[in-house]
Amino acid sequence: MGFAFHQPDSVANAIALAHRYGEDARFIAGGTDLIIQINRKRLAPQHVISLGSLGLEGIRETADEITIGATTTHNDVVFHPGFQHQLTALAEASAVVGGRQIRHVATVGGNIVNASPAADLVPALLALDATIDLQGPAQTRSLPLDRFLLDRGRTERQIDEVLTAVRFARPPSQSATSFLKAGRRKAMEISVVCVAAHLVRGPDNGFSKVRIAVGAAAPRTFRAVGAEALVAERGDDGTSFVEAGRLAAKAAVPIGDVRASARYRTLLVAALVERALTACRDRMQGAGA
Ligand SMILES: Cc1cc2nc3c(=O)[nH]c(=O)nc-3n(C[C@H](O)[C@H](O)[C@H](O)COP(=O)(O)OP(=O)(O)OC[C@H]3O[C@@H](n4cnc5c(N)ncnc54)[C@H](O)[C@@H]3O)c2cc1C
Repeated sequence: MGFAFHQPDSVANAIALAHRYGEDARFIAGGTDLIIQINRKRLAPQHVISLGSLGLEGIRETADEITIGATTTHNDVVFHPGFQHQLTALAEASAVVGGRQIRHVATVGGNIVNASPAADLVPALLALDATIDLQGPAQTRSLPLDRFLLDRGRTERQIDEVLTAVRFARPPSQSATSFLKAGRRKAMEISVVCVAAHLVRGPDNGFSKVRIAVGAAAPRTFRAVGAEALVAERGDDGTSFVEAGRLAAKAAVPIGDVRASARYRTLLVAALVERALTACRDRMQGAGA
């Protein structure tokens, strides 16, 4: 592997380099995806542009909104005091990315831009209706994460755009999130299937908002909108969570590979969706919501 390594001192300079070199260049944050792609000869950039030291790290909270800077590491997410209670799913997802060493360098932005269907943090962010902030040579723009993700390894990002942050509205106190991952072992394991759920308590013990996001069961992480609608309509009536699991499994189009058969992945989607919804409900009850 031979490439020129650039260490720009500002986001604008990083973008200018990416604009100049186009497809010959790639940004690098933690490098835990990019370097593997280069080593496996799937990518051969002639220019690698570092996003370190540009001030893109950190988690900022206001009363209404939470913003995670692109180069924030998974370790920072795991230990962020604000990612407890309603936002547990974020810490749960980042906590199972790779192993300890990986989590210390791998970033939130890299997890999103890499657009792996098995990216663990993405379902948790999708369940929170997250928005992506992008900065390019001519403009900055924002778009929902759900629109940003196109397909396996493909996003709406232009080659010279930096993902600067991901943000979402602060969930109400009477809400809960959860994230569950099935793998063949507990660490250093790409998800066989992962699921995130988000419930917001509504009137008459129902739910005013239901989000279910599924990873590693389709070419991209997806929201199981049919299952969401079912739970929003019926609430928790004793069978709705199981039926939501079945609906989500129907929406899945998993591959079969060395980790699991397509059939097993489909069964996992049904089981994990039910469990993730149950965990949200129990967490809300535990919090007195
Ligand atoms: C051993 C191992 C285990 C792993 N286990 C898991 C796991 O369990 N779960 C999981 O989800 N992932 C896992 N991964 C994948 C990886 O660690 C994560 O996806 C990580 O979050 C990637 O972040 P990064 O900063 O290292 O990305 P990089 O490798 O630096 O970048 C990834 C891609 O995104 C682009 N990019 C990065 N940041 C930006 C930005 N801000 N703006 C524009 N483009 C950008 C790069 O150009 C590159 O194309 C594992 C990787 C390894 C090596």
